[in-house]
Amino acid sequence: MRDVGEDAVIRALLRVLGRAPGGTTGPGDDCAVVPLPDSPWEWHLTSDPVVEGIHFLADTPPRAIGHKAVGRVLSDLAAMGSEPQWLLIDVTAPPDYPVRALQDIYRGASRLAKRCGATIMGGDVGKAEQLSLHVFGIGQAPVNQGILRRGARAGDFIFVSGRLGGSLLGRHLKFIPRVAEGQWLRTCGGVTAMMDISDGLATDLPRLLALNGLGAELEAASIPIHPDARRMEDTHSDLYHALTDGEDFELLFTVSPRHREQLESDWKATFKLPCRCIGRITGQAQQFLIQYPDGRQEQWTAAGFQHFVSGEPEREHFK
Ligand SMILES: [Mg+2]
Repeated sequence: MRDVGEDAVIRALLRVLGRAPGGTTGPGDDCAVVPLPDSPWEWHLTSDPVVEGIHFLADTPPRAIGHKAVGRVLSDLAAMGSEPQWLLIDVTAPPDYPVRALQDIYRGASRLAKRCGATIMGGDVGKAEQLSLHVFGIGQAPVNQGILRRGARAGDFIFVSGRLGGSLLGRHLKFIPRVAEGQWLRTCGGVTAMMDISDGLATDLPRLLALNGLGAELEAASIPIHPDARRMEDTHSDLYHALTDGEDFELLFTVSPRHREQLESDWKATFKLPCRCIGRITGQAQQFLIQYPDGRQEQWTAAGFQHFVSGEPEREHFK
């Protein structure tokens, strides 16, 4: 798995599964989409693991572990514009793990689930050397209304919610999934594609564009940089962190040109959270350009966090 990276691993698994049944959207989006027979609703299905040593550390407070595990799944539901409904949680833990700490994990999980309108309906507990949580979530939306990744078109504007970068300093354990914003975007008109940013904008945006053979042109000055990105103590620039750090859990979406202005002013009237237009979709397949205020233009390669691949992302970019 290390040799090929996460995306290729997923492609190899999809070859085993074959095509999803007609009328459904199978793997490859933030959620699978299944229409309910004789119902005006469709279901959105998603699951996600968090594992000690990768997504949290041995000394991470248990409530934060529960919050993060559920938050990641709710963020995938948010990315469809879904209304979260039900969650299941599997936990694996070493035999000497305290029951009280396990309860605290569930307290953290349950609190965030409730805040986002979901209920934890059950799950299972198993023995393992490491603590890990596996969360399965179901949400719903009116049939054919869930926002997929594949709807983007050349000329659409690219938007992100919130600010990006530096989540490692603590936000990756405390983020609030953009469920309300996702639902609002589903109903406001003009949103052509949406996903959540889990592996960094520089990795996730190319994933969205690859579905339709599109490219992007981004304005460096428009990319919303989180104050945490400036607090990262290393040699990389703030912009580098905003583009490549994982676990922002903000929404990345594309908007048709004629809806742009309305959407921007309606968003401002509805949410305190910022929402920025960061660039435009182009018809140039796999071409990712970043435009700097001084006129410089840079080609950019996907460089965010890919599971299973070791080593640092490309350093020459975003300096
Ligand atoms: Mg996602």
